[in-house]
Amino acid sequence: MAYKIHHLNTATLCPGNQWGVNGSGSILKKGLMVCHCLLVETDQGLVLIDTGFGIQDVLHAGFAERLSMQALGAIADPQECAINQIKKLGYRPDDVRHIILTHLDVDHAGGIKDFPQATVHLHQNEFIAGMRPITLQEKLRYSAKDWAHQPNWKTHQVVGERWEGFDAVSVLSDALYDILLVPLHGHSRGHCGVAVSTTEGWILHCGDAYFSHQEIKLEVPKCPPILAAVQAMDDTSRADRLYNQQRLIDLHHSSNESIRLLCSHDHEEFDTCCHYTSFLGRKS
Ligand SMILES: [Zn+2]
Repeated sequence: MAYKIHHLNTATLCPGNQWGVNGSGSILKKGLMVCHCLLVETDQGLVLIDTGFGIQDVLHAGFAERLSMQALGAIADPQECAINQIKKLGYRPDDVRHIILTHLDVDHAGGIKDFPQATVHLHQNEFIAGMRPITLQEKLRYSAKDWAHQPNWKTHQVVGERWEGFDAVSVLSDALYDILLVPLHGHSRGHCGVAVSTTEGWILHCGDAYFSHQEIKLEVPKCPPILAAVQAMDDTSRADRLYNQQRLIDLHHSSNESIRLLCSHDHEEFDTCCHYTSFLGRKS
């Protein structure tokens, strides 16, 4: 049985302008970003890696959701929500058995309330930040409404496991595949990437550890100015964010494409991923 990995854009975002957000083009035209989530078929049911906004966030946005959606220039289209795309693929919402979150910002975790039966995995530091926000930034970025349904949380802490030189912790695995949380703190207190083993190598979903492929994949990395400002405004630890970005640059250039890095909001990476099909497994 071949288990497919689906790439879902759960929200089209049109913030700022093309030059400031995408690094080229007009300052008179809107920028373009996505909310790139993964839906992984497994023998343990469907696994959703980040959820995007929830359906109620889009239809009846509360304060935190409205703040986030306006800042991101989100087009409120319920058809893009993960729950509707999953139904369109022929699955039921309760087929989603596990959700793995890079972090708890509403554009990544808002949809957990659409899958109340799923076990929600995340790093313990992020869970603590979400449940007991300390700074004003943390109080504004998280929305307790997203977990008012009291999800079945499963928090993870690194205990010595390693992956490609990074700390890692296994979230789901069996004899044929691995799905790991890879701490990439900095954007938020417990922000992580999620590594998925495929028959062609690894996919590393980097969440918001970077915002544009130009920061990681160019010979001379650069960041479109609006994205640079947004990341500086959003980060919890600048030193950790920049340190982890450098490690991702090194990983990208040393892995000879056997590890495919993608982030949450880069539309070019998303478009590229939609052109090929990946299957859960291990490279032989
Ligand atoms: Zn984000």
